[in-house]
Amino acid sequence: MAQQMLKPDAAFAREIAQAGGQSVKKCYQCATCAVACPLAPANAPYPRKEMIWASWGLKDKLRGDVDLWLCHNCGNCSDLCPRGARPAEMMAAARNMVYRDLTAPSVVGKWMSSPAGLPYLFAIPAILWLLVWWIAAGFNGGNWFPRAADGRIVFGQIFYGDYTIDPIFMLTFFGAVFVLYRGVRKLWELFRPEGKLLVVGRTRHWILHLVDVLIEEVVTHGRFDDCETGPATGKATPSRKFGHMFLVWSFILLAFVTAMVALGHWGGKVIPLIKIETPMSLLFPLKILANVGALLLLCGLGILTARRLALNPDDQGSGYYDWYLLGIIWLVAVTGIGTQCFRLADAIRPAFMTYYLHLVFVWMLFAYLPWSKLGHFVYRTAALVYVRMYGRS
Ligand code: SF4
Ligand code: SF4
Repeated sequence: MAQQMLKPDAAFAREIAQAGGQSVKKCYQCATCAVACPLAPANAPYPRKEMIWASWGLKDKLRGDVDLWLCHNCGNCSDLCPRGARPAEMMAAARNMVYRDLTAPSVVGKWMSSPAGLPYLFAIPAILWLLVWWIAAGFNGGNWFPRAADGRIVFGQIFYGDYTIDPIFMLTFFGAVFVLYRGVRKLWELFRPEGKLLVVGRTRHWILHLVDVLIEEVVTHGRFDDCETGPATGKATPSRKFGHMFLVWSFILLAFVTAMVALGHWGGKVIPLIKIETPMSLLFPLKILANVGALLLLCGLGILTARRLALNPDDQGSGYYDWYLLGIIWLVAVTGIGTQCFRLADAIRPAFMTYYLHLVFVWMLFAYLPWSKLGHFVYRTAALVYVRMYGRS
């Protein structure tokens, strides 16, 4: 039988160490972590094998490892590791590196991996929306802060929905979906040998598995109950499950409101009955839903931020990735609420400037989604669907 050659990659081992897996060399393969993991099945344990692959720099083994994506980063294994080798942090670091590689162009992933890349990530949308503002101001006779004919503050006077916001965000959204689609295809290709091992043949169509995974992972967050304790913080921290759940539900609610407003706007041109006037009044049902979504967003953000702040510096692991995403969502929420407050207070200059920043941060959230921690959510879902397709529960 032909022997498979293992190809160690020292640079990859170093990168993992820098990305949060600096303690992997301490591992002496006792297997406590694999036994302690509440999610690893007995016949396919992790993260012990991943620790040895990481310390030997076996990049290809880690890239094709479906178990990397089944880990919930609860930290139980790190808590119980007798050597302080921090397997949970290594799993997170390896995941980040793999999905950065999967997602082209990789330079965005590189910018995303450290604070040094932030100016580039910010500059792209900042210039884009400033250009839009400058051109629209030109159409308004050089007035950068125009009011509507009835004196109200209407952001569409500068940021025209039909000609700027809708096309730019549509392109951004579908661009991100396309990048993720390609990434998921590549990920499934990497898993292929694992699929052969799991075997057995497909049992149901992948779409049915996707529905199950979405119900379990998104609607109920059921698997969080299996590993709720989280990394050793030394302090009691609010529930990770509820932080995630509130955040995900708020995204779903806000996405629904956005879709309805777009439908009302574009569909209203054809069927006047469904037309939605913007800005919506505070008591309009969609506006109420949007505000409930914003409230859930703030609760989720508050809980997850409190948890992160409570972590010991040694437990930060993939900390910058988490802080980047939390930071951007905070900025989206704060500028969104600020925009509404300034508009209601009739403060036109702060209202327009806050709205401009809001557009910049929303663009950053969507456009860089495939490289951020949110991309992880998509890849994780794809991995869960994959293992179910091949007979592993
Ligand atoms: S990571 Fe820790 S618990 Fe896991 S095998 Fe290595 S030494 Fe043991
Ligand atoms: S972090 Fe939690 S889910 Fe991930 S390997 Fe460790 S114990 Fe298992």
